[in-house]
Amino acid sequence: MSTNAREYQREYQRRRRAEDPEYAERQRQMCRDYHNKNREAMLAKSRKYHIDHAEKRREYAKRYAKEHPEKKKVSIAVWRKKNIVKVREATKEWNKNNQDKLKRYRKEAYKKTKLEVLGHYSNGVPVCSCCGEPEIVFLSIDHINGGGTKHRKELLGQGKNFYRWLKINGYPSGYRVLCHNCNQAYGHYGFCPHQVKDLEAASA
Ligand SMILES: [Zn+2]
Ligand SMILES: [Zn+2]
Repeated sequence: MSTNAREYQREYQRRRRAEDPEYAERQRQMCRDYHNKNREAMLAKSRKYHIDHAEKRREYAKRYAKEHPEKKKVSIAVWRKKNIVKVREATKEWNKNNQDKLKRYRKEAYKKTKLEVLGHYSNGVPVCSCCGEPEIVFLSIDHINGGGTKHRKELLGQGKNFYRWLKINGYPSGYRVLCHNCNQAYGHYGFCPHQVKDLEAASA
């Protein structure tokens, strides 16, 4: 059959399928029968094709993934869900063999979350809400009405980190950013000298 004739036949069948549901169903049944009868041969052919074109398929998959990063993300998530046991075991094994990297990753993730949380409670760039100290190393989150230490201990008991907890819980109110100095002052005296100085300056 020439290419033109085949095209013509295809077009004819397409039109008839659209117009005649019985014909469409008959064709579908024929297709099903053919598949059932030749299942093994078709599977073998498909397997052979996959093996013969492995290199090409890999290249195509790579290119496709690069062009559709969102789809790749979804398909990875689906695959991980299906293979959760495998994934867990592989993760365990990887963690065992990459302790140094793991430590570094965790440290980086902790730092990133801390920055995000401090930024959120500072309305932008992290600073001490009392004295304006901007050095991240000196900053931490303070529970305005106390109870922070207890809460933190509870969380640590569960192996969780406080900054992550704040983020996951949608940044609950009642927290502020303080530097260590101001934090200690509030802890010891219930007020910070910074504020008292301001008061003296205001009343002078
Ligand atoms: Zn301060
Ligand atoms: Zn202060």
